[in-house]
Amino acid sequence: MTADTITAADIRINARWLIPIEPCGVVLEHQAVIIQGCRIAAVLPTAQADREFHTRETINLPNHVVMPGLINMHGHAAMSLFRGMADDLPLMTWLNDHIWPAEGRFVSEQFIADGTQLAMAEMLRTGTTTFSDMYFFPEIVAQMAHDTGMRAQICFPLLDFPTVWGAGPDDYLSKGEALINAWKGDTYIMPAIGPHAPYTVSDEPLSRAVALSEKTGARIQLHLHETEFEVTEAEEKHGQRPIKRLAKLGVLGVKTQCVHMTQVSDSDIALLADSGTHVIHCPESNLKLASGLCPVHNLMERGINLAIGTDGAASNNDLDLFGEARTAAMIAKVVANDAAALSAHQALQMATLNGAKALGREHELGSLVAGKLADIIAIDLSDPFIQPVYDPASHLVYSNHGRAVTHSWINGVPQVQDGKLTRIDVPDLMLRVEEWAEKIREQQAV
Ligand SMILES: [Zn+2]
Repeated sequence: MTADTITAADIRINARWLIPIEPCGVVLEHQAVIIQGCRIAAVLPTAQADREFHTRETINLPNHVVMPGLINMHGHAAMSLFRGMADDLPLMTWLNDHIWPAEGRFVSEQFIADGTQLAMAEMLRTGTTTFSDMYFFPEIVAQMAHDTGMRAQICFPLLDFPTVWGAGPDDYLSKGEALINAWKGDTYIMPAIGPHAPYTVSDEPLSRAVALSEKTGARIQLHLHETEFEVTEAEEKHGQRPIKRLAKLGVLGVKTQCVHMTQVSDSDIALLADSGTHVIHCPESNLKLASGLCPVHNLMERGINLAIGTDGAASNNDLDLFGEARTAAMIAKVVANDAAALSAHQALQMATLNGAKALGREHELGSLVAGKLADIIAIDLSDPFIQPVYDPASHLVYSNHGRAVTHSWINGVPQVQDGKLTRIDVPDLMLRVEEWAEKIREQQAV
């Protein structure tokens, strides 16, 4: 091979193991990932990379597994400031008596900025490169994610009643449309419509959300069938299950993501499958709030796309998507009464490629394939808690926790290097977090 066949590129990552996610179930050894600009130029054996590429920078990861960045498909980032504030309570008590009053008292533009940065720091350190958010002041969250260089689906809130961010449905929808227009075509920021839940949004605003989605292409994400109470109350009130009402209003479809779905009948599954609606599974939030269990295997059998999310840190209480993948795999086995249900590789796919599908970006995110965007993470498997290694995929799901992540790149830009964040000033962030904690503690003491 002559010198003129050598291609110049920016970064070369040499990895002991590599899990490309596509094809599913594969672990490769001694691989190199070549990054050129914001994209993956090649994934190939290291010996072949020596012959074919000359890169500006080489990173050797001899004890690591390299894989696509994780996609956390549901959360309320700024709620990280409420982490551990109110635990061991059922959903409606938790919301009505603790979370909503605290939000009314503390949520401001500065609260959102500081809480979102805390969440991003945690997510980046634990391997997430793309997250979905649904919270107040989405324009601030969008700007912060963009400035940090994280990809984010930003769902603006839509509710029947006024909140700190808006006066009611008209206000939410007009501000939301402005958000969608402001970020049109951006590679990092994906604005979306976030009707809170069927029990907080009536028919007319839901229909307008569908119209806005059709007009702009924005996705819709909403909490759905989170608890048995939600479903039985709706049956008494409307004479039908919430998902049926949504189907009639045209809310279901390939651009819609339903979060939770712990209450699932055969007819619910048919509605999801026939419409191509995505389901976002948040197992730890469902466990902690005793909401119920999503029957993942039943949904997978019908070809429904399932991604995973952590939900907010107030109901989890962490944003470690590796931990969430482990919980998802464990629960799936118990619910299906089958230890083979949701394998480690399937759980990893849910945390990556399936999230990309829900976002409509599977052609450029969610797997390590040449031509896709360079959203890549590396996990060090040399620590005692993750030794010895027989199958890296097993370790990532069953033995790992996200803190073993040592490196991450988003759009080819380094975000975590040797376990340190490159674009967030952590000591400064911790000072601001402590200031919030002081205020919240004072209020709790009253
Ligand atoms: Zn939620």
